[in-house]
Amino acid sequence: MYIISGCLLGVNCNYKGGNNRSEWVCDFAKKHSHLAVCPETAGGLLVPRTPAEIKDGRVINNLGEDVTQIFEKGAMNTFNVAATEAVLREEPIEGAILKANSPSCGCGKIYDGTFSGKLIDGHGVFADILKSHGIKVMTQEDGPIE
Ligand code: SF4
Repeated sequence: MYIISGCLLGVNCNYKGGNNRSEWVCDFAKKHSHLAVCPETAGGLLVPRTPAEIKDGRVINNLGEDVTQIFEKGAMNTFNVAATEAVLREEPIEGAILKANSPSCGCGKIYDGTFSGKLIDGHGVFADILKSHGIKVMTQEDGPIE
């Protein structure tokens, strides 16, 4: 079972109320067992919502509010749901395909916290949890894969 960011599959869950549909990820999902997730909405954030970025290890929205706890709760809830789902399906979690650069789903590069579009090295909160559990994480920018 693969964990896939819902917004890559066309689910309108991103902060703007839209999605980040990736054709190759949608094709991949047709051929592989997967679970669509959105750790930010799982944490209780609304669609649309105020954009947030990671700055000095905290998640701060563009109103200056610290939303770290909400992001962490959503990421942990989502990981627990995925782990339970893998047990129920009797399938291992084979990997995750997540949305690049997001403060939740980004892997390897994330926005730098200045809301200027600049990227720095780092992982989103959810990607970090998956990696700490040994789950292989990639983004739509690393594909396509079969
Ligand atoms: S939290 Fe992840 S799945 Fe949800 S909108 Fe952001 S990038 Fe997409």
